[in-house]
Formats: sequence, C-alpha cells, structure tokens
Amino acid sequence: FDQKDGWIWFNGSFVPWKDAKVHVLTHGLHYASSVFEGERAYGGTIFKLREHTERLFRSAEILDFQIPYTLEEIDEACNATLAKNGLTDGYLRPIAWRGSEMMGVSAQHNKINVAIAAWEWPSYFSPAERLKGIRLAFAKYRRPDPQTAPSLAKAAGLYMICTISKHDAERQGYADALMLDWEGNVAEATGANIFFVKDGVIHTPLADRFLNGITRQTVIELAKARGIEVIERRISPEELPTFSECWLCGTAAEVTPVSEIGPYRFTPGKMSEMLMADYTAAVTPPATKLAANA
Ligand code: PMP
Repeated sequence: FDQKDGWIWFNGSFVPWKDAKVHVLTHGLHYASSVFEGERAYGGTIFKLREHTERLFRSAEILDFQIPYTLEEIDEACNATLAKNGLTDGYLRPIAWRGSEMMGVSAQHNKINVAIAAWEWPSYFSPAERLKGIRLAFAKYRRPDPQTAPSLAKAAGLYMICTISKHDAERQGYADALMLDWEGNVAEATGANIFFVKDGVIHTPLADRFLNGITRQTVIELAKARGIEVIERRISPEELPTFSECWLCGTAAEVTPVSEIGPYRFTPGKMSEMLMADYTAAVTPPATKLAANA
C-alpha cells in the first residue's frame, strides 16, 4: 500500500505517496503513541469533518500530546488532501504520532507529527448484497476497562486486540468479530459499533467504554427522527437470541447488516434497510442529490 501514486499531506506540505516515510525509532511505532481518524468523503464533502477533527484532538490529549495545528488547519488539510489526489469519493486517514527524537517510554519533547492520506475505498457491497448480512465470530479478546486503557481515544494501541481478533475470525471464515467488554457485555466489532432490533425498538450498547462512533451517533439521530425508540444500555450476550435484526455501523462499514453472531441468527429486514437508506441520504451532499436527480 506504500507504493501507490498520489500525495500525502505530511507535517504541512504534500509529499509523493511513496516518500511519506518515518524512521524505525519512531516513538509511535515502539510505544503506540499514535492517534488517528477514519473519514469518508461523498461527492466532494467529507462527512462530519469537524467532528472527526475534534475527536483526533481529543484522542491526542488523552495520550498526553497536542497536535501542533488548529482545528481549522486540519480541516483545510483534509479537504486539500482529497482535492490534491483528485478524489470526490474516498476514505481519509489523518494520523498524529510522537516522533523519533528520544527513545524510551518517556518522550516529553518528541516532535508531534501529523499526516493525512486519502484513497478510493468504495462501499464493500451493493445495498442488495449488503442486506444478506455478514457473519461475526466472538472475539478472543475483550474491550478494556477505561481504567485499564484509554478506551475512549481512537488510539493505535487499542487496535492491537482488534487485529488479532479479526484475523482469528477471518481464519474461521467469518467477516469480523464481536468484542465483549471486560465485564462480558456486548461492546462492538473490531472497527464498528453494533445495533440490534427487538419488537420495533432499537437497542445498542452504551458507549461509555468504547468509541462512541460518529456513525453510531448519526444512526441514532436518524432513527429518532423517524420516531423509532432507541435504547442505549448494557446488553448481555445471552440476549442475542431475542433480537430479530442486527447491524454494524462505522465510517468505513457505513450501515452493514449482520446475519450471524456465532450460533445466533438475524434476518436483515425493514429497519436495517431503512437506516441504510437514511444513512446514504444523510452523507450525500445536497449538490450531489440535485445532480443525481437532474
Ligand atoms: N469502534 C471502533 C473500534 C472503530 O474503529 C470505529 C471506526 N472508527 C468505530 C467504532 C466507529 O466509529 P465512526 O463511526 O466514528 O467511524
């Protein structure tokens, strides 16, 4: 992936994709002092850009470092990266990390680096294909207690258990893994939040111990706008057989229905279909909607 054509915004200027390199003694690599974002642009507009930039800054603060730019500068840099790469629809990856000035756990004065890459990342499936649902395994690791790890930051270190769990699920033929929290409640997938439906009501785990996804918040708003009740609460895995529908949501995954979690079965239905459509409408900028109707 490092040999593509294109441009990466790197500490304030654009460098060719292939030249956007860091030293092997980078603190972010050794000690995971790195935070990042995942954003999608639709029709030239980055969906909820400011919310993502604010989360990047909050994640950095949680890891005890400050991004050496303003929110406005990072927003502008994201838009510029999209444009420089000739993209209107795509995925953006801003990342900030401690550099290689000092080696050791303490790195009070290491430079804070920021880079932004953007590339094409089409939706995984067509809506019809997506409605078949994906299959999830149970993850071998649990999400850590917020007293054990900075659970609310989008920090690179927290993805170590996600990659292990996702690899394990993929080896067993599943698309992704469902992670429980440290107390054994349903938490989220390895890179997306999770929702369930029972008797016309939406249930989703309380996001006080894992990332409260921007997509999750959007989906909750969209459901409420339709007058659907949404209950955020602890959900035990024993309840899984009582739910009729299930979906994952995240910037990359968008709204993706789930058909299986281990031995449990779900049937993507009206609610999944409606929120997939509402999400697509929400992310589509008005100018694109007009052009599509023209
Ligand atoms: N949880 C995890 C672990 C994630 O990586 C993501 C993707 N950023 C999400 C949830 C969903 O967050 P968002 O909707 O803001 O992309």
